[in-house]
Amino acid sequence: MTKIINVIKGTKDILPQDVEAWHRLEEKALEVFTKYGYKEIRTPIFEATELFARGVGDTTDIVNKEMYTFEKSERSLTLRPENTAGVVRSFIENGMARLSAPVKLWYKGPMFRYERPQAGRQRQFHQVGVEMFGIKQPTADAEVILLAVNYLKSLGLNDLEVEINSLGCPACREVYKAKIKEVLKPEFENLCEDCQNRYEKNPLRLLDCKVESCKEIFAKPEIQKVIQSDFICEECAEHYSELKSYLDKMNVKYVENKLLVRGLDYYNRTVFEIKSNNLGSQNAVCGGGRYDSLVRNLGGEDTPAVGWAMGMERLNSLLPPVEPKKLDAYIVSNSPAEAFAFAEELRAAGKCVEFDLTNKKFTKQLEKAGKVSDFALILGEDEIKSNKVSVKDLRTSQQVTVNRNEVLNQI
Ligand code: ATP
Ligand code: MG
Repeated sequence: MTKIINVIKGTKDILPQDVEAWHRLEEKALEVFTKYGYKEIRTPIFEATELFARGVGDTTDIVNKEMYTFEKSERSLTLRPENTAGVVRSFIENGMARLSAPVKLWYKGPMFRYERPQAGRQRQFHQVGVEMFGIKQPTADAEVILLAVNYLKSLGLNDLEVEINSLGCPACREVYKAKIKEVLKPEFENLCEDCQNRYEKNPLRLLDCKVESCKEIFAKPEIQKVIQSDFICEECAEHYSELKSYLDKMNVKYVENKLLVRGLDYYNRTVFEIKSNNLGSQNAVCGGGRYDSLVRNLGGEDTPAVGWAMGMERLNSLLPPVEPKKLDAYIVSNSPAEAFAFAEELRAAGKCVEFDLTNKKFTKQLEKAGKVSDFALILGEDEIKSNKVSVKDLRTSQQVTVNRNEVLNQI
């Protein structure tokens, strides 16, 4: 026998019985984001590798370990591990900086990261996300967080935890980085290998480490003292406190987490995550923040920006399954020509209908009708002669015979 070919490890089919759950996420995204003035953008699934090296940052796990990179015609290309870099590239390339600010864009689609597959972590997964360009005020940070919370609410997810932090600006962060390095220096040998590697290049990322022995080190009082210190400059502090006051006014509950630094290099000032207690160890559904230097770093004009991305698989795993939709009606007839014509008539009127293309016995067709719909529309010899239809409610077995043009009122 010919060997079957399996789906690749870390990727999944989204099967017909599951796809309605995905439609729910996508329809709500369109509905809610449109209310806030966002327009959808669709960027290619692969881009120049350099875009991610520069746009995500070459000290990140994503760029160092997780990219699907391949060569074609002597160019290095990469399957997008996230969509912010692609959206920023498109923003610059299409001159969107000339549009009046804010420019609000949203996206959805597959992302690719070479990670160890486990519950809540795949190699091809999906994100839905938003990016807002052109506003430096904390109103923008507050609005994108509010949008995330309201999108989650629209899906029925009311009890997720919003965590926020401010990473300051490049100036005040340098001082903080130096302090973190200094206080961790005596512990260097005890840090995990990843943290030792990050120590020089990206010391803030250490705070994000999930390794128990590292967490224990960071919990030591002298180290906590530095972590918990207010290092951000006056302007950054004002930005942060305004953000918090807007969130308070809008009744968005949040907790401040000084260990929240996010994996990507490009963030400044606001960072945030939204977490669920029902997801086990992969508990973040949403991550985002402000990235005022990214547009310039990718060759555009200085443009402040803020955005977030949510993992759609993780959202679905928090939501109840969607009941599969039934057909509005199933036509039962031994005259395929009549059934064809009637089905088309009903479809033109907006109904979802099918009939038996193999012209089986009436009883078989009725059995099938009961599986796929609540209504059977019977076109027997008598009905065809008199130009009528018998409508059978398959839940109650009640049947009425009506004129064809009255069927739409019955189903
Ligand atoms: P994590 O700490 O879980 O690795 P991250 O910081 O790498 O998350 P982001 O790049 O911020 O994640 O992506 C935003 C969201 O996308 C995450 O909060 C998560 O819900 C989802 N996500 C990220 N990586 C994966 C993955 N490999 N499989 C499924 N969902 C993912
Ligand atoms: Mg990750």
